[in-house]
This record gives sequence, structure tokens and C-alpha cells, in this order.
Amino acid sequence: MSSPADSVWERIQLTCGDITAWHGDAIVNAANRSLLGGKGVDGAIHRAAGPRLTDECRAIGGCMTGDAKRTGAYELPVRWVIHTVGPVWRGGGRGEEALLSRCHRRSLELAAEVGAQTVAFPAISTGAYGYPVDEAARGALPTVADFLSRHPIPQHVTFMLFSTAALDVWRRVLEELKQESMP
Ligand code: ADP
Repeated sequence: MSSPADSVWERIQLTCGDITAWHGDAIVNAANRSLLGGKGVDGAIHRAAGPRLTDECRAIGGCMTGDAKRTGAYELPVRWVIHTVGPVWRGGGRGEEALLSRCHRRSLELAAEVGAQTVAFPAISTGAYGYPVDEAARGALPTVADFLSRHPIPQHVTFMLFSTAALDVWRRVLEELKQESMP
């Protein structure tokens, strides 16, 4: 992975809050393989979007870990929901990093396909799936930066962290990555 330029890091924003209230083109859902809704951010997205989201997801018929599927957003204040299935953390030696990376890459590919200029991600896999927050930031941020360095769309990616503690960790990791990528 090449070192992302300064301008790429400027296209990544970190913020804290509820992703279902975010206004932009697309949000990413940390779904499970059934795509039928669940707990955590998945449940919140399905509740806020309304039952037609679950109907559309049912018709898709599921999603593999590391892959992503795109649907409409219904009652949500965005145009698309991109459902990706993160890896369950099993200690880090079971390909978790590659799968988490693939989730972010596939989600951005699906966003770019429809011209989504602004996309928000939750901290995929860091809730029920047990991925350590620090490791998740170290997986997600370079993958997104690498994608943005090679694609003009999306223009901006927001990571919507759900606690100030998580936001602090992601900020620290982002600063470290910026330093490491300086020539
Ligand atoms: P996973 O099964 O991928 O771990 P979870 O939904 O359990 O998915 O958790 C993923 C992350 O999403 C966690 O950090 C959790 O705190 C966060 N989260 C839960 N609800 C929301 C929400 N409404 N907006 C943004 N992030 C959320």
C-alpha cells in the first residue's frame, strides 16, 4: 500500500454520534450474513429505515463475510445503505484483518458505482463481533485512505464513532498513520 498524500487524509473525517441521523449520500451498515437486521447499529438502521429495508434485504438473500450489498435507504436521510458483514474477532490470526479491509473496500466500490460523494461508516465489527477498537481503526483507516488515493468518488468518508472513548482511539490512530505516511 503506497503512502496516502495529505489531501487524502483530509477527505477522511472522524465524528461521534448516531449514524442513522447522519445526512449524506450513503451509510454503511455493520450487518450479519442474513442481512435481516440484528442488534447494535444494524438494528438501529433497520428501525430507522422502516420495514421496506428488511424486505429489500430479504430479497437479496444474504451476504458473505467481507462482502457488501447495496440497498435503498427508505426513511433514512441518505440515498443508499451499504450492508457489509465484518469478521468476528477470534484473536487476530484467522484472517480478520484482511476481511475487515475487504469490507471497507467493497463498501466503497459499491458507493462509487452509484456516485455517492459522501459515505459514513460505523466502527465495523467492534461491537458484538468483538474486534478491538484500536485494531479496527488500524485496519479501516489505511484501507479507506488507499481507496481514496486511487478514486475521486466518494469525495469524503466519515467514520461515525459511537462513543467519545472510541473517537479518541480513532483520532490517535489517524494521527499516527498521518505521521507514518509523511515523506
Ligand atoms: P458488529 O456486529 O459488526 O460488531 P455492532 O452493531 O455490534 O456490530 O457494533 C459496531 C459498532 O457500531 C460498535 O462500535 C457500536 O458501538 C456501534 N454502534 C451501535 N449503534 C450505533 C449507531 N446508532 N450509530 C453508530 N454506531 C453505532
